[in-house]
Amino acid sequence: MKKIFFTVGPSQLYPTVVGHIKKALKKNIPSISHRGDQFMKIYEETCQSLKRLLAIPKNYHIFFLGSSLESMERILQNCADKHSFHFIDGAFSQKLYQFSEKLGLKPEKVEIIPEVGFDFAKVKIPKKTELICLTHNETSSGMVIPVKEIYRLRKKYPKKLIAVDIVSSAPYLHLDFSKVDAAFFSGQKGFGLPAGLGVLIVSDRAVKKAKNVGTYHNFASLLKYELKNQSPETPNVLTIYLLGEVTKDMLKKGIAKIRKETEEKAKLIYDFFDKNKENKPFIQEKRFRSSTTIVINIKNGSKKVLKKLKTHGIVVGSGYGENKEKQIRIANFPSHSKQAVQKLLKFF
Ligand SMILES: *Cc1c(COP(=O)(O)O)cnc(C)c1O
Repeated sequence: MKKIFFTVGPSQLYPTVVGHIKKALKKNIPSISHRGDQFMKIYEETCQSLKRLLAIPKNYHIFFLGSSLESMERILQNCADKHSFHFIDGAFSQKLYQFSEKLGLKPEKVEIIPEVGFDFAKVKIPKKTELICLTHNETSSGMVIPVKEIYRLRKKYPKKLIAVDIVSSAPYLHLDFSKVDAAFFSGQKGFGLPAGLGVLIVSDRAVKKAKNVGTYHNFASLLKYELKNQSPETPNVLTIYLLGEVTKDMLKKGIAKIRKETEEKAKLIYDFFDKNKENKPFIQEKRFRSSTTIVINIKNGSKKVLKKLKTHGIVVGSGYGENKEKQIRIANFPSHSKQAVQKLLKFF
């Protein structure tokens, strides 16, 4: 049976992906050399399209890595000697904090209770902090940090580097990249691609300040190859190609339209569950509600609901961690049509 995947990643493929895979096979993309002209052109075009779609400044660098967990590790190794500071609003921001500890840094944190909200203006970040880390869209809790809070940090702490996890909000989020030093996402979330590609966007100042810890994937090594439209290792050529093609499709559609549609679908979902007697949105305060990964408390447990949805050909995510059976998580990516969302809501 053909299924619709509302899971938060991997998720529903972007509608054009199957066609692009077929075309890639015809063009022998999986066999071409990662040092040849054809690949270098793919690399260059993918970066150019991404920069246009997301309005990334020209002097920012784009590195292709294995995953977003890898991006997290590379940012910590390259952007801080000792002192990172973390806003924790769920499992992924927590993971980054733990990575920092494991790498021998001395991270500090402020903990947010996602369902309640938070006064960002009150946070005091220590003088010694080199790197501030935020998760724009916490996929585990469905909390979003408004970008203006990130800009406020930039203004207050202009010398510190800022890293933002945009894994489950790109390409929807509207971020002024000139106000951050590192941002990263994975293909299998909002871009609707197969898993196995991490994209790390870094400012020139972050590259210049880089500590270059590690081997082939330290920033100096990544930069050296990026300047040749290559990567140090044999990369995920096929998915880099697919990312380029899907990004071009999104450019044709227009990012404004993608954002508007995302907001309309999110409103449908939130309005529906705000009125639902049994199942309610987890995040209370509207400005902290994610538009792309929506978490709903399920009164009678998620297990039965997920099973029943499956018989209708709809796959939805369970809650994360300890909320596995108490919640469901609904992805609202550009791959999800309004009709599919309506079909999902009809079930409830
Ligand atoms: C999925 C996800 C990650 C990890 O991505 P991988 O590609 O699995 O490494 C990190 N942060 C957030 C917010 C995510 O949703």
